[in-house]
Amino acid sequence: MSEPPWRPAYIGVGSNLDDPVVQVRQGIDLLRSLPDTLVTLISSFYRSAPMGPQGQPDFINAVVALVTKLPPGKLLALTQGLEARQGRDRRAEKWGPRTLDLDLLAYSSVKMSDCNLTLPHPGIAGRNFVLLPWAEIAPNYFVPGLATVAELAQSVAGKDPQIEKIG
Ligand code: AMP
Repeated sequence: MSEPPWRPAYIGVGSNLDDPVVQVRQGIDLLRSLPDTLVTLISSFYRSAPMGPQGQPDFINAVVALVTKLPPGKLLALTQGLEARQGRDRRAEKWGPRTLDLDLLAYSSVKMSDCNLTLPHPGIAGRNFVLLPWAEIAPNYFVPGLATVAELAQSVAGKDPQIEKIG
């Protein structure tokens, strides 16, 4: 059987609980431990006001570029395992506080939707805390069915939530 090819994928990493900067760093280290996967680029870290329920701590977000031989469903399942390892309670409120959130933003040129996985991630278009870090590391990547990351980032620059690059 032939070896699966290496394909690019992008993961949004976020946290707003239990020292979020440390959580995001640990999340990235956990991504490095995935089988058949290499972390190739990491954006700056950004602080943003929470989406959804207010009165929760600010979020720290970053985006990571990978190359992987894993198919998308397997990559999602393994990243969900990493979230669980970091103590995320999946029963918690939607958009509520979380120790580690790993979103599979996009995978190569794949467009798909099943009961577990939608690609590209459906929340990408309006989210400056995803698009601004992503544009740092992959401005020319064409998000399947949408536009380049740089074009998408331009359309949300200056919009809410307030976002600050923290290095
Ligand atoms: P969240 O609470 O935002 O992390 O959403 C997690 C849920 O979204 C899980 O049930 C996933 O199966 C589903 N999901 C669908 N598409 C994606 C994606 N591209 N990346 C991460 N989770 C996804």
